[in-house]
Amino acid sequence: MIRIDSSGNLRYRAITRANVLRTPQWDDLCTEVREAVEVVSTVLPFRTNQYIMAELIDWSRVPDDPMFQLTFPQREMLHEDDYAVMASLIRRGAPREVIEEEANRIRYELNPHPAGQLTHNVPRLGRKRLSGIQHKYRETVLFFPSHGQTCHAYCTFCFRWAQFAGLDELKFATREVDHLVAYLRQNPQVTDMLITGGDPMVMKSSLLEQYIEPLLKLDQLLTIRIGTKAVAYWPHRFVTDPDADDLLYLFERVMDHGKQLAIMAHYCHPVELSTDVAREAVRRIRSTGANIRMQSPVVKHVNDSADIWAEMWRMGARLGCIPYYMFVNRDTGAQDYFQIPLIRCWNIFQGAYRQVSGIARTVRGPSMSAFPGKVHILGTSNVGGERAFVLQYLQARRPELVRRPFFARFDPEATWFDELRPLTAADRRFFPTIQHRPASFILGLPEEA
Ligand SMILES: *Cc1c(COP(=O)(O)O)cnc(C)c1O
Ligand code: SF4
Repeated sequence: MIRIDSSGNLRYRAITRANVLRTPQWDDLCTEVREAVEVVSTVLPFRTNQYIMAELIDWSRVPDDPMFQLTFPQREMLHEDDYAVMASLIRRGAPREVIEEEANRIRYELNPHPAGQLTHNVPRLGRKRLSGIQHKYRETVLFFPSHGQTCHAYCTFCFRWAQFAGLDELKFATREVDHLVAYLRQNPQVTDMLITGGDPMVMKSSLLEQYIEPLLKLDQLLTIRIGTKAVAYWPHRFVTDPDADDLLYLFERVMDHGKQLAIMAHYCHPVELSTDVAREAVRRIRSTGANIRMQSPVVKHVNDSADIWAEMWRMGARLGCIPYYMFVNRDTGAQDYFQIPLIRCWNIFQGAYRQVSGIARTVRGPSMSAFPGKVHILGTSNVGGERAFVLQYLQARRPELVRRPFFARFDPEATWFDELRPLTAADRRFFPTIQHRPASFILGLPEEA
């Protein structure tokens, strides 16, 4: 199972439903946990890898271990009756098509694909829609290279599961870097490119170069960002993979062209920064001149405690990473499983923030990537005798709304912006008249990861 190359380096090997049964850890799992993995992974994508299994998961704490929760499907992620139906199909040895049909039914129920979802923020070039590009905030364009739409492991909370589950019509990608460049030339106000996925770091360095090289000639671009979880899930990408050095060379070339390269690193738990290889990855990336910014959603069962965040930011700061965003987890397939009330997210944030020095207080959060923009929960206050949430936009479709504090009625159970109501008439302009909750499926990215 473990793959090692001739120089003794660990080689990447995905662990999925098909081969997890042959891992040494599988035999030690209890029957219920094994059944849950088998059943739930027919519906939600499951992929981990040997590094996560060998070095990040503490098997003595399974099933509560945060990295186990983060990458292994859990029974409670499905509604009880859906779970029962699927479990019995599997037990009966039902044919593959029957299982697949049932899985699709449950997937659409968990996250239907409403009209309009893929139509917002998709820019046009002449009459052509550029489907791998998203332009929501004036300065920043997101690019989803078609070869970067998978990951070294799948986070169980990830709302992009639709891309991974083989429902092709939901795929959101393009091969067309030419179109991207043409679009940027037509939009000189864009100064930032954010290359995201999936995880662009699943690409070979030579392929990534084909996407990045044409961007280097564009004078308007100040910063190229790459959103990635590879620093946590497969840090070997930057250290011992055969083309790791080529990758670092590519990073240097971005810097040589007078642009900043920022690695938007999705770290969600301090254990991800605890191994030698993870630290070496940070050191090597930083040695190219690139910055590493840390961001993650706050996720129940994984990192829903202030101490976890404080420790992660401190460890990051020690290694020279810059804490950037804490996101509120959006609706995902397994929403009920992961959901945390907004007030609790804020408590976690405040409890962590107050423990760290100003160096790590570059972090902002908790922030919701909602339809109208990134809504920052500043806290609660008492306004004329009524408790209220104090909010502001960090990013907004309408830039004039940014950085103006506004109020929403306090609601201890609210888990997302569309459940909040303006406190006063003056606050109404900060709330969209139509809520586009479904659209946010792809619009606000938890990772910009
Ligand atoms: C978060 C986000 C960005 C980048 O915003 P920054 O505040 O510059 O990090 C760009 N586009 C979308 C759609 C986003 O959600
Ligand atoms: S959160 Fe990022 S790394 Fe995790 S599965 Fe989703 S896209 Fe991949």
